[in-house]
Amino acid sequence: MMEAKIETAETQNKAPRGVRDILPDESWKWAYVLNVTAQTMADFGYSEVHLPIFEHTELFSRGVGDTTDIVEKEMYTFVDRGDRSVTLRPEATAGMVRAALEHNLCGQNVSSKLWCWGPMFRYERPQKGRYRQFYQFDAECLGLSGPVADVEVIALSVEIFRRLGLRNLEVVANSVGCPNCRPQYRKVLIDYFTSKKNSLCKTCIERMGRNPLRVLDCKVPNCGVVADSAPAIYEHLCDECAAHFEEVKAGLTRLGFPYKLDKRLVRGLDYYTKTAYEILSGDLGAQNAVCGGGRYDNLSESIGGPHLPGVGFAAGFDRVVLVMEQQGNSFGKRPRTTVYVVAQDDAARGVAQILTHKLRMEGISAEQDAGDASRGARGFKAQMKSANKIGAAWACIIGAEEMAQNVVTVKNMTSGEQTSVPLEEAANYIRQQETQS
Ligand code: AMP
Repeated sequence: MMEAKIETAETQNKAPRGVRDILPDESWKWAYVLNVTAQTMADFGYSEVHLPIFEHTELFSRGVGDTTDIVEKEMYTFVDRGDRSVTLRPEATAGMVRAALEHNLCGQNVSSKLWCWGPMFRYERPQKGRYRQFYQFDAECLGLSGPVADVEVIALSVEIFRRLGLRNLEVVANSVGCPNCRPQYRKVLIDYFTSKKNSLCKTCIERMGRNPLRVLDCKVPNCGVVADSAPAIYEHLCDECAAHFEEVKAGLTRLGFPYKLDKRLVRGLDYYTKTAYEILSGDLGAQNAVCGGGRYDNLSESIGGPHLPGVGFAAGFDRVVLVMEQQGNSFGKRPRTTVYVVAQDDAARGVAQILTHKLRMEGISAEQDAGDASRGARGFKAQMKSANKIGAAWACIIGAEEMAQNVVTVKNMTSGEQTSVPLEEAANYIRQQETQS
């Protein structure tokens, strides 16, 4: 086993390269995106599941494919204390299919529509919009082989983005055929690439024989020129795949979704059959895909299960938020603390503590000066400053006078207006005012 590098003093208090913290300034936006996603998934009949973050390594090597970049170069794989090889999931589809098989979620004439979200892990070169721990939301329609399901999955992803207000998107689609027609196409492709070998990069020459479809999506400019003139798979599809693809295209047209055909779209995962698609953003630069998906009718068999057709997509959470920020889209209202409870003197601190807790129990977000071991409790002015700083809408002020009369002074932090309210009524009063505003 390789000796692990020990972190130095400069790096040990930093997150590892390619991973990041999602802090409060961003996390509320994530909650918004997640809410919209969850609602849209429900409207399309998808149920949420939570799946493990690590799986047996074989699930990915067999499911995603041994010759893919993900499996060859990008997986976080380690041997656990029981000497089993496990891998942090690089994608969600293989785990979804594994779970559906394990729990018999699909059977004869029984299909399952499932979605999940969470972190995925790939050892990639980090750059804007590309991380080593990134988040996806993922929808999988299992057990249905007809083109209506493909169209529904594409429509679902488009609808999520529509609700999030994403603009400047493009749907690109292709068919990657099936085990009936792909071998023939592979031959045609290998012949073509062999004739152009001198113009291809080293990696493409290496993988040309093993996985010639991957040469089609090589990002090296010279390879791109060669790939642009390569024979298109949709001219080599078997009758079944061709008919399926025609129906998918007709469905997209029926729903009024513009799309572009891209014969070079093969996607980096081996399990795709028939439909492959991506949604690209014009606002993301090099890492421009916000979503990718397609049909994978043989994935279940490749991991040792029975025949189970499926179609789905995965969308990049981080990138969706990035595009929304760039486009100035709304994330709804940022949650803020409604009330800051201020104790004017030490004698009022106990009452302030009780009121803060009562407000919270009533579902009104409230904050108080919790003090600090080194500097102790803070004075009135400092507390009012804090109320302003956290953007509280109201300050509930308690001092000697208020305590004597069993009231609280409620200050509107925007207008500066103050009202005296019976202590017991404070929560009701604030709720009423909040619903009116
Ligand atoms: P894939 O599973 O490769 O088809 O990716 C589906 C979507 O996940 C992509 O369209 C991206 O939006 C997102 N994605 C994939 N890899 C990364 C990454 N390393 N960092 C951030 N987002 C990613």
